Amino acid sequence: MKVPLLDLTAQNAALTTPLLQAFQRVLDSNHFILGPEVEALEQELQSWTGARYNLGVSSGTDALIVALSALGVGPGDEVICPAFTFFATASSVARLGARPVFADICPVCFNLNARETHSKLTPKTRAVIPVHLFGQAADLDSLRQITDSYSHQTGKKIHILEDAAQAIGAKYKGQRVGSMGDFGAFSFFPSKNLGGFGEGGLVSTNDQRLFETAHMIRSHGSKVRYRHELLGGNYRMDAVQAALLRVKLEKLEGYNSQRRRNAEFYLEQLKGIPGCVMAQESWCSCSTESEWLDHIQDALLILPVAYRHNESIWNQFTIRVVGAGRRQELKDFLAGKGVGSEIYYPEPIYNQPCLPEPEDVGTGFPHATRLATECLSLPVYPELTLDQLEWVVTCIREFFS
Ligand SMILES: *Cc1c(COP(=O)(O)O)cnc(C)c1O
Repeated sequence: MKVPLLDLTAQNAALTTPLLQAFQRVLDSNHFILGPEVEALEQELQSWTGARYNLGVSSGTDALIVALSALGVGPGDEVICPAFTFFATASSVARLGARPVFADICPVCFNLNARETHSKLTPKTRAVIPVHLFGQAADLDSLRQITDSYSHQTGKKIHILEDAAQAIGAKYKGQRVGSMGDFGAFSFFPSKNLGGFGEGGLVSTNDQRLFETAHMIRSHGSKVRYRHELLGGNYRMDAVQAALLRVKLEKLEGYNSQRRRNAEFYLEQLKGIPGCVMAQESWCSCSTESEWLDHIQDALLILPVAYRHNESIWNQFTIRVVGAGRRQELKDFLAGKGVGSEIYYPEPIYNQPCLPEPEDVGTGFPHATRLATECLSLPVYPELTLDQLEWVVTCIREFFS
């Protein structure tokens, strides 16, 4: 049976008519950049980001760039990023001339570890970027506590930019991600939960002044035409992208809950496999590598956990396959059975050749280093049939038997 990692046809084919209508509307309007479609999308996304101000932009990467620019991040500044994330989180910092400083992650939820973040604060720290990786919120309260107390001691504000590219609609203690930092950044890359038809992104904030700055940066830093007060860029969203996204937005609640059901099915069905360990919420505070290793002694397979205080949107369902070479063996085995899987991410961000090498590269990130060798994401997209889900489970059981 074929079970691709992601099947966009299954999702989009059901929407052909309204998508074509939306396209026709834009075609007839002759308004192709920003305008009423983008404004309508920004309005409609308000309940999804929980933030008062929302700004459609050209991609998730550009959302990060716009937000960091609006916060004034530049040369001489440091921005703390998780040691395990997609490249754009840190490259945006570097592209603005600032230095990404990496902090290790929590091995349970894969997100920025607050204690590690604390140890990386310096007088140069300008911002922290928690990433809500794979659809689960990072520990924002602990991070906020750390940045606030540092600000209190030093009188210097440290901004929080939530990289919510993979987490639209996810909640942290009942609140939407993207509304709790100074800024949120979202992506509509086709593989995200709200996947567009090309590139797109969104910046969210509750701060009117920051919003106005970001708004200007989106269009070459100008408020009055041909007068450029800030060094912005062209980060505008296309009207056709907004119109098509509005069609899919109506379905997002259903997509997210179907992903959740799929994830719950996997957790229920896979936990009985010999050597399988379910990651526990209570291990989250365990920060040392040895504590983690105690927890997972003899584990061959580790299942992900969604914390009770979080509502994950399961952009990825990511298991860990323990043992040298075992992950690749499982990936190949699944491929032979028609099941797609992917490694997000095989090379830790701090190792990327174009980024400055951290001083503690050899020892500083044991969890991120290990995760990069063990993680494997399975198909979890909303349109998976029960037969397909069962087939994935059957194949994994066979591999471990
Ligand atoms: C996808 C993604 C981005 C970048 O979004 P694009 O729309 O592809 O530019 C940034 N950060 C994370 C964590 C992502 O997953």
